[in-house]
Formats: sequence, structure tokens, C-alpha cells
Amino acid sequence: MSPHIPSWYSATAHPAPEHPVLRGSERADVVVLGGGLTGLSAALELAERGYSVVVLEAERVGWGASGRSGGQAIFGYGCEMAKIAAQIGLDDARKLFDWSVEGVELIAQRCAKHAIDCDFVAGHAHAAIKPRQVEELKHFQHDLESHYGYPGTELWDRARLQQELATARYAALLYDPRSAHIHPLNYTLGLARAASALGVRIFEGSRVTRIVEGDHLCFRTAQGEVNAAFGVLAGNAWLSGLVPQLEDRIMPVGTYICASRPLGAERARALIRNGMAVADINFVLDYFRLSSDHRMLFGGRVSYSGIDPPALGPRMRARMHAVFPQLADVDIEHVWGGYVDISMSRAPDWGRIGSNLYYAQGFSGHGIAATGLAGRVIAEAIHGQSARLDVYQRIRHRAFPGGRTLRTPALVLAMLWFRLKDWMP
Ligand SMILES: Cc1cc2nc3c(=O)[nH]c(=O)nc-3n(C[C@H](O)[C@H](O)[C@H](O)COP(=O)(O)OP(=O)(O)OC[C@H]3O[C@@H](n4cnc5c(N)ncnc54)[C@H](O)[C@@H]3O)c2cc1C
Repeated sequence: MSPHIPSWYSATAHPAPEHPVLRGSERADVVVLGGGLTGLSAALELAERGYSVVVLEAERVGWGASGRSGGQAIFGYGCEMAKIAAQIGLDDARKLFDWSVEGVELIAQRCAKHAIDCDFVAGHAHAAIKPRQVEELKHFQHDLESHYGYPGTELWDRARLQQELATARYAALLYDPRSAHIHPLNYTLGLARAASALGVRIFEGSRVTRIVEGDHLCFRTAQGEVNAAFGVLAGNAWLSGLVPQLEDRIMPVGTYICASRPLGAERARALIRNGMAVADINFVLDYFRLSSDHRMLFGGRVSYSGIDPPALGPRMRARMHAVFPQLADVDIEHVWGGYVDISMSRAPDWGRIGSNLYYAQGFSGHGIAATGLAGRVIAEAIHGQSARLDVYQRIRHRAFPGGRTLRTPALVLAMLWFRLKDWMP
């Protein structure tokens, strides 16, 4: 079983129990593949409704994106709401938006209910670099208020934003006091603890290698199997050929984060005075926030090819310095990456295969809040209330062109166009 990958998160993770490897045969009402935020959220919600649940995690709880992410918990999904509205209509898109806000609120509620200490800090801003992006933010705010009934965001011009954020890079910010940021690994470990306390059996080092479908499901691992009436697939970017019809609709994209050395409380606070998280609105975006021990956690760069970019550390450092030149003397101490599961449209891809196999994928880099909701919506559906999942399942998804072998070069080419757009004024 692999330990968590080296990162600032694993270096500051709360002690957590190791869960056993699955050996032999288990029975449960529901078997969940994946011990990340989606799988654990589903397990917790199901256990709260009285179901017996087994979670099978190939590595460690929180080993995947959930234990590596930027930790920015934001309303909405990986694509613009207009894309979803164009498919399912504005009324249902409004429902999806409201539920995404529920996903953000769920984090604070779970922290309180299960005493999860994950450095929760409220406040998030989308940042515009160029004049055309300032117009985009104005449009975004208008859309949020008039179409989606989401009040309370504030559009800050350069002078106002610089009262909170010590950088000359941005022309405007759209500040949202309700979105937040967290230590994602500690939140994930906290959900696992809460699920275990409710009787969920978690197995680590237990990769599902085969799924036998039917009226009853059997999830097999190297040394055991779980038989259950229902299954949940929450494996994110890599299902390793288990369910090709789902995997064809997902592209694993590498994304990266670095953590500076500790800056000290005063110097850190001078950079982001109100403690918010920030993400710019470029296609290949920069996103950052302060850690609880006063470091800059700075995310950016992507790899569409499955290969980590060369000289990652110096390049991440350069990106951080482009936003905060005053950190020129500051080195970085941790660099790590992970994979996000993007769908073609970047819309969420949640639903059911047959009568009893549920899945949630396509978080498209926007899953901290949406995963919690996905787990809840799937638990409701298993409990016989599928009204919400049915709305998500109306979003149509296409397979990536080129099949699983050629889609990577095709995507690299397609993405080049979007990167060029980032560089245009
Ligand atoms: C670097 C990075 C930065 C990000 N930043 C943000 C952010 O700031 N805000 C935001 O909203 N989102 C962000 N995301 C996205 C977000 O982290 C994900 O959408 C979310 O964590 C997905 O959770 P998950 O449970 O679906 O997947 P994961 O956390 O990846 O969990 C899936 C689990 O399934 C396991 N698994 C896979 N196959 C099998 C198998 N066959 N058998 C058993 N287990 C299996 C894996 O080991 C893994 O632990 C980021 C992601 C990355 C990588």
C-alpha cells in the first residue's frame, strides 16, 4: 500500500488509522470503489440512512485528488452554468446551481457535526487579469444574481482589491464570502473517521480488479470480494479499464501545486489580508491561498500528456513570483501534482448504469464541494429518491475523440488553442 504522496498536506496530515487490506469475502448493502471525497461522502450518507457499506480503496484514503487538491470549495461546476442550461433548460440548471451551493455548505456542516479539523476559512475570489476578463466578471456577477438568485458577491476594482491582496497582477476580483478553502487531506481523513464511526468498513490497499454486474454486484480485488445489492464508482480519473463506457468520457489531466517555506504570520497576512482563496479565470489558471502555518500554497500549470512538466519546481516558483514579486527571496519546499477527471464539456457526469451501479465523475477540477453533493445525491437515489440524480443524468456526455489511445494527442492539440487565448489581450 503506498503512503500518501509527499506534499504539504501529507506533511501536516492528522494521524489516521490504517485500514486493513480486504481478504476473503464480505457482504454489504452497498460497495463503494474509491476512498476519496466522492466515495466517502456516499458512504457516510448511506450509513446515516442505515445501509451497511464497504469502501474499497486501491491505495490509502485520500491518496487521490481529494488529498492533493487546491482545497478551494466553490459553488458551481467545472463548466459555465450556461452550458448546462443550454442542455437541460434554465429551470433545471437553477436547481443544479442551488445544489452546488448546498455542496459548499455541506463542508462546514460536516466539519461541525463530525468535529473535523481541516483549517476551514471562508472567502474566495475569481480574478480578472485583462480588461476583457473584467467584463466577464461583471457578466458572471449579473448572471449569478439575475439567473441563479445568488446574492452577496462583490466586484472589486483594482484599488479595492489591493486593500486585501498585495499584487498588481489583477484588474478586478469577484469576491464571494460563502465559498471557502480547506486542508483537503484532513477533511477527507475526517470523513473517513466519521464513516467508520457509523460502521462503514473501509479497506485500503484493495484495488478493485473486476466488477461482476447483475441483480447483485460483486467487486473483486486481488485477495477478496464484496457482494452487494448496489455499487458506487468513485474512482475519479483512473478506473483502469473496469468500466470502459465511463472512462471513454473522461480525460485525466495533471495539475500541480507548490508550497512556499513558512513566511511568518505577519508577512503572510500582508499578502492576503482577509485570508481568502483566489483563482484567476484563465483557461490554464493560477490559484492560491495561505496555509494555516503561513505558507503560500500556489497552484497552476497542467499536463494534458500524462507526463509531468520538466523543471516543475522552478516553473511553479516563477508563476508564484509573477503574482507576488515580493516573494522573490522565498523558496518553495513542497511541489506535488495529481489528476483531475475532465469531461468533454467539463459538466458533471453523474448517473446510474443498469439498475444498481452508480457513478460520479467529470468534476473537471471543480470537485471539493461538488463531490460531497454527488455522494449525497447518489445515496438518495439508492434510498429510492432519484429525482436529483435524474436531473444530472439528463446532461449528455460524449466520448473523447480518438479513443483511449489517440485522445491524448488530440486533446493536447485542442488545448493549445485555449492556451493561446489566455495569452491574448
Ligand atoms: C492538484 C489538484 C488541485 C485541485 N484543486 C481543486 C480546487 O482547488 N478546488 C476544487 O473544487 N477541486 C480541485 N481539484 C479537484 C478535486 O480535488 C477532485 O475533483 C476531487 O477530489 C475528486 O474526488 P474523488 O473522490 O472523485 O476522486 P479521488 O480523490 O481521486 O478519489 C478516487 C479514489 O479512487 C481510488 N481508486 C481508483 N481506482 C480504484 C480501483 N480500481 N479500486 C479501488 N480504488 C480505486 C483512488 O486510489 C483514489 O483514492 C483539484 C485536483 C487536483 C489533482
